[in-house]
Amino acid sequence: MAKKQFKTESKRILDLMINSIYTHPEIFLREIISNASDAIDKLCYLSLTDENVGLQRSDFKIKLGVSEPDRIISVSDNGIGMTKEELENNLGVIAKSGSKKFKEAMDKGGDAADLDIIGQFGVGFYSAFMVADKVTVITKAYGSDEAWKWESAGVDGYTVEACEKDTVGTDVIMHIKEDVEESEYTRYLNEMSIGQLVKKYSDFIRWPIVMDGMRMEQVDTGEKDENGEPVMKDVETPCEEVINSMVPIWQRDKDEVTKEESDQFYENIYYDYEPPVATIRVNAEGQVTYKALLFIPGRAPTNFFSDQFEPGLQLYSNGVMIMERCKDVIPDCFRFTRGVVDSPDFPLNISRETLQSGRQLKIIQNNLEKKVKNELRRLMDEEPENYEKFYSAFATQLKYGIVQNQGEKKELLTDLLMFYSSKEKELVPLREYKTKMPEDQKLIYYACTDSIERAEALPQAEQVRQKGYEILYCTDDVDDFIMRRLEEFDGCKLCNVTTDDLGLETEEEKEDVEKKQEENKELLDFVKESLGDEVTDVRISGKLVSAPVFLTSDGEISIEMEKYFMLMKGNDMAQNIHANHVLELNAEHHAFAALKEAYDAGDKDRAARLSKILLAQGILIAGLPLENAAEYADLVCELF
Ligand code: ADP
Repeated sequence: MAKKQFKTESKRILDLMINSIYTHPEIFLREIISNASDAIDKLCYLSLTDENVGLQRSDFKIKLGVSEPDRIISVSDNGIGMTKEELENNLGVIAKSGSKKFKEAMDKGGDAADLDIIGQFGVGFYSAFMVADKVTVITKAYGSDEAWKWESAGVDGYTVEACEKDTVGTDVIMHIKEDVEESEYTRYLNEMSIGQLVKKYSDFIRWPIVMDGMRMEQVDTGEKDENGEPVMKDVETPCEEVINSMVPIWQRDKDEVTKEESDQFYENIYYDYEPPVATIRVNAEGQVTYKALLFIPGRAPTNFFSDQFEPGLQLYSNGVMIMERCKDVIPDCFRFTRGVVDSPDFPLNISRETLQSGRQLKIIQNNLEKKVKNELRRLMDEEPENYEKFYSAFATQLKYGIVQNQGEKKELLTDLLMFYSSKEKELVPLREYKTKMPEDQKLIYYACTDSIERAEALPQAEQVRQKGYEILYCTDDVDDFIMRRLEEFDGCKLCNVTTDDLGLETEEEKEDVEKKQEENKELLDFVKESLGDEVTDVRISGKLVSAPVFLTSDGEISIEMEKYFMLMKGNDMAQNIHANHVLELNAEHHAFAALKEAYDAGDKDRAARLSKILLAQGILIAGLPLENAAEYADLVCELF
């Protein structure tokens, strides 16, 4: 029989699997069982509307077999099965979710040494090759008379041929590898270890997972004792033992479920290799009766910030999954939330449309929104380390949520924001900043820059710090947009130290600055003229303490936004967005005195050169690229 070739990318993954690069090969059983369970889900779902299926809910099961002498582990289901085409499409190529995502991650620069990434995905069917050197799949699809046998010993390809199978469903037969030095595969080849793997990874599967076992029974020997009573004896009889508890974890009593169990559930289902930072249990009765089990992850999945990420919670109706990802039960701003919502009020044979139009989902969404928010606030207060972990993964999502849909969720989300504090030298909640403000402080100060170091060095911030006020250093690209959008927090205005009036000057000081501005009008006009269209204005500053200059902006576009757009290489429109640069000078600084001296002495050449140096310094301090750096260097050297 001709061997068929795997598609290239499948070969690559198979190769990785065969060489057992993943440190937990034991997950193979979970993956194969999960496929079996999905196949049963599909047929069970059909049976609700199609009488020909001929099976009751209680007929469905997954059967495990293990034989040490034959070195075989088998997983059989009476689910939907596969046609010949499906066999080839599903097992011959990397067809589906998990493996495909895995492949994408590998293509993005992961390599075989990068072991951890594999744990993030459902590696699916191929994981069988971590423990097996040959895999045989025998399957008969529902509605078909033919059965098919697929077989592969790894990368060189697979065969498909017709075969006999009485019942609809699929048998996956794994021929377990011989032991090699570090890898002892024989340990899987007994009922006890298979049973343990099921308990560990697949306990919540809602179909019975059975294994052949022996039961002691008292059997009538047909003889009678001296009293005429039948003589009984103990006989071992074969039976099927159900090894999983089947009760989904969210249906169990809250106090009965240990943290380990719930973490394990999360890690298995969502392919995370770390436990969540928070777990939320909801048991609601009222307008809608439902149970929910929600998880707040501590890491963002690799595709979280791309449109490939599919948010949503799983919907169950009394333990039967009816939707894999329902977006309508959790607000988009909390799209990082994972978990399950189970309600007896959800009809089983539901169509997406009927579910969406229902009020039920909206009510649940409102409820879960509150629960998630409260839990995040609790973390912030009681488990700051966990909150920071969450925040470093999802702050951008929260901030994005603030501006989404005309700021609909602004109130909800602002409370969850944190920024780096100039005083505490760590992230602090916005609320905490507000609470700790000295009585005479009227504004919440923040500085948007690309690094903490640059923020520390901002000349404009010196005055604020001298006053003993805390400044929030905003270093995320989106912060500038967000702070502008917020405008205020808890009745207190936000003040951008680089662009806004700091509100620190007394009337007298203000008048003084105005006076100096007036006195030096001619000089300032001269500086502006000699700098050409590089600046839209040159002013005397009321903000500077020890620094000679800084660069700020007038109008809608700030310098931080300009930097942000500059990063969008290849986008001509973005590259052309510039802030209106304004140069502010410190009239008390000796640099200003030197400039004035040159100008007053009629040495306009020197005054123009000094102006250029001052502008260049403003540009550098602001973190913008200095286009004529060589000229600047020459000008500075001339001063020596
Ligand atoms: P995933 O489960 O992530 O889709 P897999 O590689 O595990 O990826 O499986 C690929 C596909 O093969 C499944 O989506 C399913 O269509 C099919 N399949 C696997 N196992 C079974 C099974 N026991 N019964 C029916 N179909 C199966």
